[in-house]
Amino acid sequence: MSPVIELKEVTKTFVNRTWRTVLLRKKPERTRALDGASFSVQPGEVFGLLGPNGAGKTTLIKILATLVIHDSGFARICGHDPCQEAHLVRQKLGLINTSERSFYWRLTGKQNLDFFASLYNLPGSARARRVNELLEWLGLEEKADIPFMKYSSGQQQRLAIGRSLLGDPQVLLMDEPTRSLDPVAASEFRAFTREELIKKQGKTVLWCTHNLKEAEEMCDRLAIVHKGKVIASGSMPHMRSLIEEGSSYRIRIDRGSANKVREAGLIPVRMFQNNGYIEFEVKAKEENIPSVLQHLVSNGVQVYTCRQKEIDLEEVFEKLVKDES
Ligand code: ADP
Repeated sequence: MSPVIELKEVTKTFVNRTWRTVLLRKKPERTRALDGASFSVQPGEVFGLLGPNGAGKTTLIKILATLVIHDSGFARICGHDPCQEAHLVRQKLGLINTSERSFYWRLTGKQNLDFFASLYNLPGSARARRVNELLEWLGLEEKADIPFMKYSSGQQQRLAIGRSLLGDPQVLLMDEPTRSLDPVAASEFRAFTREELIKKQGKTVLWCTHNLKEAEEMCDRLAIVHKGKVIASGSMPHMRSLIEEGSSYRIRIDRGSANKVREAGLIPVRMFQNNGYIEFEVKAKEENIPSVLQHLVSNGVQVYTCRQKEIDLEEVFEKLVKDES
């Protein structure tokens, strides 16, 4: 099966020209946003791009969406080149980002969709049908004639999905789609994407996020982007094992057992004295935790709690980069 999205060794450097660089002929500042990024996405897949802010995710999405031209490398969407065949690429994809400024605030939701549908050259009757169909399907019929500025952030986001689906695209590019949503709206949005767009309609989705939990919930496969490079990619379980390798657990025990921890052969990363308890941190894989606890208990240690420390993605990215070099 040929991939729906294919990127090989894509680079992009932004040159920041200001009045100083133009009038005073100063050297413009350059930002290497992409430094040889490669990945591919198969039909029907939800592929995640995970990385910290500034990693290059939006630049990748913009290249695929024909909004930015890359400097070198190979890019294809449904077999088309986003630079040479931008019109064909645009027919195949829908872009969902968080910018509510891209709608007309005083127009109603329906008028907004109608306006954007006219850009797809849909004839009058088909246009009205498509707009009504989408409003119904997005659960926005009752809000259809209310100005966009009165929509909640969740409703605005749903309208953004509606707009991206006007041309019934095969591929959806989602750039941090839940960033401006509250937790309830974000969860609704994820469920909607999963059930409707992916399961029922079989769309291919590229989902950009800096949230590991969200990536885990949504994605079949994942690429980690760091400083313009894809530093690791693979299935979600594989990525989780890479990310969790050496993750930390905090174990709370009784005060009198501090020495027994070392006797049990564990090397704590840190020790904390806390309200009559001791908490210590160990690095371990998830599957080894039951035997660690069993070992402690059999050495007479009273174990009160054991919880995984929140994974620090920056740490993981740095580790993966080090492992690579
Ligand atoms: P992400 O989406 O992962 O947060 P971006 O792709 O937005 O990352 O940005 C990658 C890098 O490129 C950042 O250092 C950012 O400042 C820079 N950048 C992005 N767009 C532009 C632009 N239009 N002009 C100059 N620099 C840019």
